Amino acid sequence: MRRERNIKIISTLGPATSSKQAIKKLFEAGADAFRLNFSHGNRKEHLSSIRIIRKLEASSGKHIAIIADLQGPKIRIGKISKAFIDLQSGKKIRLDQNPQPGNLKRLPLPHPEIFPVLKKSHSILLDDGRIQLRVDRVGKNFVDTSILTGGRVTDNKGVNIPSLALPIKAMTKSDMSNLQFSLENEVDWIALSFVQRPKDVSEVSKLIAGRAGLMVKIEKPSALQKIDKIINLADGVMVARGDLGVELPIEEVPGIQKKLIQLARKMGKPVVVATQMLESMVNSSTPTRAEISDVATAVYDGADAVMLSEETAVGKFPIDAVSVMNRVAKKVEVDPFYRYIMDREHPNPDPTTSDAITAAARQVAETVSAKLIATYTTSGSTALRASRERPSVPILVLTPIQKTARRLILSWGLHCVKTEDAHNMQEMVSRACDLAYSEGLVKAGQRIIITAGVPFGTPGRTNVLRIANIPKKKL
Ligand code: PEP
Repeated sequence: MRRERNIKIISTLGPATSSKQAIKKLFEAGADAFRLNFSHGNRKEHLSSIRIIRKLEASSGKHIAIIADLQGPKIRIGKISKAFIDLQSGKKIRLDQNPQPGNLKRLPLPHPEIFPVLKKSHSILLDDGRIQLRVDRVGKNFVDTSILTGGRVTDNKGVNIPSLALPIKAMTKSDMSNLQFSLENEVDWIALSFVQRPKDVSEVSKLIAGRAGLMVKIEKPSALQKIDKIINLADGVMVARGDLGVELPIEEVPGIQKKLIQLARKMGKPVVVATQMLESMVNSSTPTRAEISDVATAVYDGADAVMLSEETAVGKFPIDAVSVMNRVAKKVEVDPFYRYIMDREHPNPDPTTSDAITAAARQVAETVSAKLIATYTTSGSTALRASRERPSVPILVLTPIQKTARRLILSWGLHCVKTEDAHNMQEMVSRACDLAYSEGLVKAGQRIIITAGVPFGTPGRTNVLRIANIPKKKL
């Protein structure tokens, strides 16, 4: 099945879309990858989704990526003594380490590591920034705060302390066990929340040990300070605009989105734009004009993927949300202005044989009006370099490794097929031509470009570029 667009769509699964029928419909509407959000749901539900997706993959013959999104060290207040309490602006409240349920005078903050680093005038935000506290006094096991903006508090509300790099580990105990569970069940990507420093990435990367891609969710200002190193250590990036817009002034988020997309493309790592893309569709069958513009902007920016969260996890119109995204992406990608933007600045190739061949493949395809670039890859690295070129023709990835095919699904323009490695030049050409044709990517008589590594079957050795023609008849 061919998607007539290059950007990929990720759909988060949840109560609205846990059934076999719902997941199938999301896929048919355009979802290329599914996100399991470990901040919600339980293992049984996630495992059921994984099984449904893998069956769907087998029956459709198209690879599907699964992303396990770990909650990470999200700070939360503890329980409170009533169903809710209303904090009044202008009043005071203490945050402390007492585990007793909170009230209008004090709230439990069961994170002892936070207290030693809090300082007078630090800002503490509750409930996605809706409630704003300012630290007035720091004690040994407590802080006294003024309520700058009040609001309703319920049990376990999220806490953000934007000005601080928090002295907490990248993964909690529950993340560790969810990571284990996800790897045992062969997810393709692990998304890591609240990454703060390069060390967070290298530690988790060691634990994953190549069994899945590691996607860093950028949502902390401290991560932005070391962003080059963080992206360099990761396999993919998510612009997690929800928490990013709480941790930073909201007006900074669009600029950061553009910079992260550009940086990730330069480094050849897939970048996902996430959160509130079609938020109104949680309750409405049609999106707002501004939301359509937001999705289109991510496409024009050259992102690898756009993601739906609540829209498909708990929304009333999950299939419509994917369809809308699909339509917008397709429309943008046929706009000549989109092509102009993609071609305006091609990242410089690294001084490697593989980059030289890959950059040449795009140029040759344009010069000889080829209709496709076919790339043989084992690890997936050459395919990522081909995607980074953002060519004007589809990229067919031929790989003998299923894991590689699935992981690459998140990257811009990659159409992945699992197939045996070629053993000689003739087989290399005929297999690429056969698959390009049977996958519906080219027509008889059209020209294609093929890249591969010789000797065949040796990973990391792309060094051949071939021009071939799809036979006029036969096939
Ligand atoms: C976000 O904050 O934008 C995000 C994607 O993370 P989560 O859905 O886990 O809040």
